[in-house]
Amino acid sequence: MTPTTRPVPQSRHLATSIPGPKSQTLHSKRLQEVTGGFGVTLPVFIDRAEGGILADVDGNRLIDFASGIAVTSVGASNPHVQARVAEQLERFTHTCFMVTEYESFTEVATWLNEHTPGDFEKRTALFSTGSEAVENAVKISRAATGRDKVLVFDDAYHGRTMLTMAMTAKENPYKKSFGPFPSDVHRAPMAAPLRWATGAENATAEALAGVEQTLADHGAENFAAMVIEPIQGEGGLIVPATGFLTGLREIATRHGIVFVIDEIQAGMGRTGALFASEHEGVVGDLILTAKALVGGLPLSAVTGRAELMNAVHTGGLGGTYAGNPLACAAALGVFEAFADGSLLANARRIETTARAVLEPLLAGTAVVVDVRGRGAMLAVEFADQNTLEPLPEIAKAVAAACHEQGVLVLVCGTYGNVIRLLPPLVIGDELLADGLQVLAESILAADREPVAAVVV
Ligand SMILES: *Cc1c(COP(=O)(O)O)cnc(C)c1O
Repeated sequence: MTPTTRPVPQSRHLATSIPGPKSQTLHSKRLQEVTGGFGVTLPVFIDRAEGGILADVDGNRLIDFASGIAVTSVGASNPHVQARVAEQLERFTHTCFMVTEYESFTEVATWLNEHTPGDFEKRTALFSTGSEAVENAVKISRAATGRDKVLVFDDAYHGRTMLTMAMTAKENPYKKSFGPFPSDVHRAPMAAPLRWATGAENATAEALAGVEQTLADHGAENFAAMVIEPIQGEGGLIVPATGFLTGLREIATRHGIVFVIDEIQAGMGRTGALFASEHEGVVGDLILTAKALVGGLPLSAVTGRAELMNAVHTGGLGGTYAGNPLACAAALGVFEAFADGSLLANARRIETTARAVLEPLLAGTAVVVDVRGRGAMLAVEFADQNTLEPLPEIAKAVAAACHEQGVLVLVCGTYGNVIRLLPPLVIGDELLADGLQVLAESILAADREPVAAVVV
């Protein structure tokens, strides 16, 4: 393919203040036309995106530490993805896989069956969004077990549809005013080390006891599925205490509950392994992927044990756009991009570089209480170092300072006090160093002047 546009320079550049005048005009138009129900992290309109850079309509180049929420891990203009999608676009855009078939759907399924953890026969179902994958995992688990109930965890995020809102923990903005929700969803403790009441060393054992208690309260024999993120994303980038995931695996097996690992955010190379559950050697019965699976087109998947996946009656699963051919082509491009292992190495290198810059802030400030994560899925949590009282105003001020200087970061967490880094795995070393420097300086500034910093 001959490139029709010139590459986006891989350096931060501020041509105007952020947001610039053109973005401001476009944003006010948007407010006139688009529902106010959508928020926005940074009201900047993007013209091009490539590597670690988002180039806006005012000529600014922002460092991308968000990847469109962990989606564009291979970059937003990956040549493998572009070539595959362009080739598919020439041939056809849609048939509906439930009407007539195409090979790329099977090829995506084959790759997932081969590369997801678990040495057993698998099948894959493709859908469009992450929420749909979660919903379908519950449908499959119910059909396979004949049971109703679903176990989820504190601080979980599983989506915005009715069932997945019920499974998501955080009230505002995700659930507020949208109930009632589907029933039979029960929540158990998450082994979150930082805030575990009796100390991080007790988190695994006590949280597992809490899980057993929740199951006993509602009858373990009534649970179809247990759904967990191997590293929680929206809920605050919480890495579960060591042993928690393997403990859950054991509990699920003992009670005949389908163990569903939601790798929608943490999977597909983000943490330096293809799947985050590999770090703990834990194998799900079903594993969910979306986001970085496709590098930007809508596609999600449920992959798992053949006997579970085939327990559903023929015609019971599907969707008009499920496994759309353009999205499948993009996924095949993503698999090509991952083939030589260099992106996984990049994720690990990003972690090393970022920790070297961010960890000194634990001792160097009064507001950073944790630097955590794996690979290119990292977070800084802000709280009072003595009381752990969350400091969302510091996270907000730091994010605003980064945005002003052309570094896009995301705030997350149940208390809104965590800054999350999800850079594309293709970000260059210099760009990464520059963005981290801006972040570190913004944190130091907010630490020095916490009161002034609140005014954003
Ligand atoms: C984003 C996300 C979802 C929902 O995916 P959508 O494509 O937004 O529906 C589900 N689970 C996790 C862990 C996610 O991060």
